[in-house]
Amino acid sequence: MALPSADTRVTYPAGELEAAARVVHVAPAGDAQLAIITDVTSFHPIDAGWPDQPADTGTLSVGGVDIAVRDAVVAATDGAVLAIGDDIPVRKGTEGWSFVVAHLVDEDAAVAEGDDVVIRADAPTRRALSLGHTACHAASLALNQALATRWSKTARQDALGNPDFDGIAIASSRIEPHGSVDRYRLNKSLRRAGFDAAGLADELETLGDAVTRTISSWVAAGGSVHVERDGDLLTDRRRWVADLPDGIARIECGGTHVTSLAELAGARVSLELGDDQGTPVLTMRTRVAADR
Ligand SMILES: [Zn+2]
Repeated sequence: MALPSADTRVTYPAGELEAAARVVHVAPAGDAQLAIITDVTSFHPIDAGWPDQPADTGTLSVGGVDIAVRDAVVAATDGAVLAIGDDIPVRKGTEGWSFVVAHLVDEDAAVAEGDDVVIRADAPTRRALSLGHTACHAASLALNQALATRWSKTARQDALGNPDFDGIAIASSRIEPHGSVDRYRLNKSLRRAGFDAAGLADELETLGDAVTRTISSWVAAGGSVHVERDGDLLTDRRRWVADLPDGIARIECGGTHVTSLAELAGARVSLELGDDQGTPVLTMRTRVAADR
């Protein structure tokens, strides 16, 4: 079976849950699983390059039979090999390589190249992760604002004109259902760039409350959120766009989101200071009230 020579088209950035698709390739994926590649998908996959938002859960339906999707992972092919997740040897955009969504299913699933399928992502799971992801970006901007007075030199600015602490210091970002966990390394190069971390340990509660209050004011204003994109392929650049009281904010983002900041009602942020082999690490936990 020929490997696909085009990137997968994706509809999840627009909030779609269901897609009618054609299977273009089926390959063994290890762990008694098959990788199903389709021309289009509504399934958000995890990206090993920046694994912030987990994959959707849901099914792939063939002839009315639902097959559980065990995982969905970004994969890449040069026409000779299909490399899945961490095994991808090249960067996105490398000439001669296509980037695709691999839907992983049990190896005894009755699905073949050429099949017409319906892909369905689970709505409650998607919503919980979208809430978490929108909250994550709002919290990062609010954190930049709360830390702005700690910069003594001109730093790169964020979407609202504050020094971009989040963009400069981020080590990892994990989206969870109804929340997120962001880790920032307060290393020497950050301090040389002009960030003063002195006394931070004593201000964590005050800072967390300030971030929470800023998000609350944005929730009250109720601005819209959407994903802007350069095209409908998996590799096309996408941005989170939020209408905030201080202006329109744009952040590069491949994930899924809710459509209004009003949905983050009850969001709370807490900060912790830890240590990774001598480097201080600031952890920000963001939680949104679960749907009633
Ligand atoms: Zn994002």
